[in-house]
Amino acid sequence: MYLENKLSTHWDSLSADELRSRQGRRLHHFLKNHVVPFSAHYGNLFEEAGIDPDGIRTVEDLSALPFSSKRSLISEADGTPLTRDFVLVPDEKVLAKRPSTIVRALTHGRSAVKTAFEKEYRPILMTSTTGRSAEPIPFLYTQHDLDNLALTGRRLMEVCDSRPDFRHLNLFPFAPHLAFWQAHYAGIGYNTFTLSTGGGKVMGTEGNVRLLGKINPDALIGMPTFIYHVLQVAVEKGLHCPNIRRIVLGGEKVPEGLRRKLRTLCAELGSGKVEVMATYGFTEAKMAFPECPSNGGEATGYHLYPDLGIVEVIDPDTGKVVPDGEPGEVVFTPLDSRGSVVLRYRTGDLISGGITHEECPACGGKMPRLMGRISRVSDVRRMNIGKVKGTLVNFNELEHVLDDLADVGTWQIELRKRNDDPLESDEIVVHVAPASRVEREEIESRISERFAAATEIRPNRIEFHDAADLRRRHGVGKALKEEKVIDRRDDAAVADSNTSTPVSHHELS
Ligand SMILES: [Zn+2]
Repeated sequence: MYLENKLSTHWDSLSADELRSRQGRRLHHFLKNHVVPFSAHYGNLFEEAGIDPDGIRTVEDLSALPFSSKRSLISEADGTPLTRDFVLVPDEKVLAKRPSTIVRALTHGRSAVKTAFEKEYRPILMTSTTGRSAEPIPFLYTQHDLDNLALTGRRLMEVCDSRPDFRHLNLFPFAPHLAFWQAHYAGIGYNTFTLSTGGGKVMGTEGNVRLLGKINPDALIGMPTFIYHVLQVAVEKGLHCPNIRRIVLGGEKVPEGLRRKLRTLCAELGSGKVEVMATYGFTEAKMAFPECPSNGGEATGYHLYPDLGIVEVIDPDTGKVVPDGEPGEVVFTPLDSRGSVVLRYRTGDLISGGITHEECPACGGKMPRLMGRISRVSDVRRMNIGKVKGTLVNFNELEHVLDDLADVGTWQIELRKRNDDPLESDEIVVHVAPASRVEREEIESRISERFAAATEIRPNRIEFHDAADLRRRHGVGKALKEEKVIDRRDDAAVADSNTSTPVSHHELS
């Protein structure tokens, strides 16, 4: 079996030094045999910059390569995606001369060689980025990539401590996006029962709740706020789901307060102890990295796959790699991808605790881990520049402050101009669906106090809604990312109030 030969445990037993030297060797092989000869973009780039792939043999040597970013992937002239330039397209003449090709042709015949190359290089699946403002950028997968997607999926299951006899419910929205397909292939790779509902768009909250009752799953996989809504409705309907033991989340940040609320809802559904774990993934990596069960302790960090990619953490201003444990921007280089390949990709994601090579205290894994919270580099910058009511506001912090308030179920922050007059002062309205029966005045004062402590300003108004109304405000089931912070200040005096500009960290810029 293909997968059997590539078990995570194979690299997981290595020391940090051994690991880096193997990564260096794999990087050299990947660049020399796959990327430089077969990628239009990188073939040109290496030649023009005078970089010899033979000179890149260690992880440190990577710094000789320039970074790529979302901007590298689109045309400067008209903003269209440069998809083909980043796809590995093999040159048959180059392949035919390789000793491995000749040996395979002799032992298995020419048609076997052809089939193997088609499986390795022909794109057969596409995902794309989920940017709201920018045009989506396609990312292509070959059969080789899908085998790796099943492999990383299986590792997700292993790290999250799933069991083959578990029943998994995948609630990610059905779409050409990594999250859905990673979860789908996790079931395939781990050879376990997985029902993909397609999320709210496909069968609505009701349909998802019905399947929750019918399947009685052991594990839920999906977006945090959607799973929260589904569980909330399940509780309202008096459902009994005693088996839930794992919740694996992706696509959004997962504050501690939300994890607590999810566990509380599961308890109300009759489940015992539930581990809530987050994953971190992005289109350009073609894989997602999970936390392992923390057993009620601190989050364990995102467990990386060092054989499949190199993760660097850099200072976003200088571009220099920072030491272990220091915050910085996440940069990714694949080591075994086909189809679309981007090297030293700057994610725009800031990781607050940097990278660690220490053994994981929770599961004993030796793979490197990304520690702490993830926020968007662009958001931090934008928020530092953009003032609300004349005061600098960090919305990443704000989000955590409200999510950690136990009485607040779901919420949305709306920025607007007083009386919708563009010359008027800013207003902050907080929309809340309460999670408890505490008096409204009490909830109002708690929100106001927390707000003031975190941002030095107070909201002008707090408006109460029921959970369903807030779901509509978030665009649950419609928008792929929920609109938790909405800036309507530019809409003042514009008649159409539906044209809101979300400024949450979910927006890709
Ligand atoms: Zn662990």
